Amino acid sequence: MDDDERTAAIPTRLAAVRQRVDVAARLAGRDPGAVRLLLASKTVPVEVVRAAVLAGADLLGENRVQELVAKAPGLTDLFPELHVIGPLQSNKVNAALEWATCVQTVDSVRLAQRLSARCVTVDRDLDLMIQVNVSGEPTKSGVPPEDAVALAVEVAALDRLRLVGFMTIGARSDDDDAVVRGGFRRLREIRDDVVACGRPGTDGALGLSMGMSGDLEPAVAEGATIVRVGSAVFGARAVRDA
Ligand SMILES: *Cc1c(COP(=O)(O)O)cnc(C)c1O
Repeated sequence: MDDDERTAAIPTRLAAVRQRVDVAARLAGRDPGAVRLLLASKTVPVEVVRAAVLAGADLLGENRVQELVAKAPGLTDLFPELHVIGPLQSNKVNAALEWATCVQTVDSVRLAQRLSARCVTVDRDLDLMIQVNVSGEPTKSGVPPEDAVALAVEVAALDRLRLVGFMTIGARSDDDDAVVRGGFRRLREIRDDVVACGRPGTDGALGLSMGMSGDLEPAVAEGATIVRVGSAVFGARAVRDA
């Protein structure tokens, strides 16, 4: 598809994804309104992203800070919320914070300290999520599940940071469905442990960012509050960028 065809298809595709989320939520006895759709817009040109925002998307995620910085100025008149959903290097923190209201990929105290220090300097608050590698696949970022609670407690206490939840990338969906769903359940259990622990700054950590185009149903069934969808709305990416 060229960009015009892609753009024309967006409202229908967006509605279809929303429908999938709503059905999955009702099947799980959940309120569909409790699940937000985040569009993962990596490699998607800003004009196409604009079409998605005009079609109703109000939350976008970028993997690379370079791409965030390149596209965000072309979107601000539409006021989408922008989250960082890819690994964040320390030297990109300042640039990321010019545009993002949430960093979903915190996986070390060091990164959280950098974010906190920058927020103190520029006098602002920042939402963040802890990224957990529930599948243990070495190619995936995130803190190991067994270290997630301790990291969350430490990060939640830092100045100007608001811990709002946990994020994960599910196990490869050619795996057994039970493995994929078990990973999402693990993230929910980590969230429940942190929210119940009573330590400073942890009581708002209710969010679960999990589920993508291929596995959003099991994620919603296990309690996702944000699903991150790219290809189901924007079409397949070039393999190099997937
Ligand atoms: C690309 C990406 C998504 C969306 O993946 P699709 O399979 O295209 O829906 C979600 N989360 C992250 C972190 C991504 O990089």
